[in-house]
Amino acid sequence: MGEIHLKPGRERSLRLRHPWIFSGAVSDVRGDPAPGETVEVVSADGEWLARAAYSPRSQILGRVWTWESGEEVGEGFFARRLGRAIEARRSLFRGQETDAYREVHAESDGIPGLILDRYGDVRVAQFLSVGAERWRETILGSLAGRGDCSAIYERSDADVRSLEGLRPRAGPLWGDLPDTRLIIRENDLRFHVDIAHGHKTGFYLDQRDNRAIFRSSLHGGEVLNCFAYTGAFTVASLAAGSTHVLSIDSSEPSLRLGEENVALNGLPPEGCEWVAGDAFTELRLLRDRARTFDAVVLDPPRFAATASQAQRAARGYKDINLLAFKLLRPGGLLFTFSCSGGVSPELFQKIVAGAALDARVDAAIVNWLGQPADHPVSLTFPEGRYLKGLVCRKVGDR
Ligand code: SAH
Repeated sequence: MGEIHLKPGRERSLRLRHPWIFSGAVSDVRGDPAPGETVEVVSADGEWLARAAYSPRSQILGRVWTWESGEEVGEGFFARRLGRAIEARRSLFRGQETDAYREVHAESDGIPGLILDRYGDVRVAQFLSVGAERWRETILGSLAGRGDCSAIYERSDADVRSLEGLRPRAGPLWGDLPDTRLIIRENDLRFHVDIAHGHKTGFYLDQRDNRAIFRSSLHGGEVLNCFAYTGAFTVASLAAGSTHVLSIDSSEPSLRLGEENVALNGLPPEGCEWVAGDAFTELRLLRDRARTFDAVVLDPPRFAATASQAQRAARGYKDINLLAFKLLRPGGLLFTFSCSGGVSPELFQKIVAGAALDARVDAAIVNWLGQPADHPVSLTFPEGRYLKGLVCRKVGDR
């Protein structure tokens, strides 16, 4: 088996059970391992530390599978890890109406590089690292063998795969899938999900709890849902009795599905306005027309994957939040989110504070939001925390 040898003193993070081995910490790689192959990780003193997947193309040269020297990485290993993660979700959602959730959250579930989302009876998988890719057939076999889904579909077409030297791949993997358009349940609401063409694996499952909080904080009124995708926050607004919801997204097909989602839930379409366009431009147009709202949702895509891109991301967040504060009526609520891993919750709060200041608006944070229980964050892998949100109440203009 190949070996990764660390530089002196660079074993610390591994001892703390952080699963990433950065190339800068490595002195040499022995045994000429192939991409994705399992390698032993050894300290400069020659002490065995962990067993990891080797990823020669990435800055993250290794992703740890196990810290137990007796634990082999193979069929049994994946069956155990998958079983643990899947059973945890099953108990989380037992007795609930929700039938769409994340079953495996990569590093935080002990399976680096693997995302597995469940939409009713159908699983959608993303193999995002060469390590996960190497064990694709084993993982599939294990999932199929569990007998607890009807089909498995692959959406390994996320851009992060290129960092691992992998090409995008998508399509049916296993089982019987008559249609890639599915209907899922989120609490008492239903949504169309297109697992073949939708973003990520099809639906933003990570906003489930926040949509519920949003819905329970509204008392009718007019809502602006910016970065609306397939209208999940729009449906939540209408379910809360909002009279008018303006939904903006750059993706026209997503908004069309949004219209279908309103109909699917038997909600009134009359109060809905759908605008396909660039949010940065559309928010300015709304400001120029002096439009105002009782609640605004800002749920933009990831602006920064890493801390080094945080600066540019900060400008984007500040821009849209500043405009949103202006569009809010006094007493109105701003639900603002960031899913950029490179932007910390503290930085995000500072950016939003700066936006309110420049908008000449007095506002207060009334709630801090995060990611739901099916998107856990391992205590040894703080990077697993990516989604953060703030609920701000606008006091008034200055
Ligand atoms: N709130 C949604 C998820 C939003 S994901 C939900 O709960 O389901 C981010 C969305 O932003 C995507 O739908 C993407 O199409 C859209 N988007 C990306 N860049 C945009 C831009 N510049 N202007 C408007 N929408 C944009």
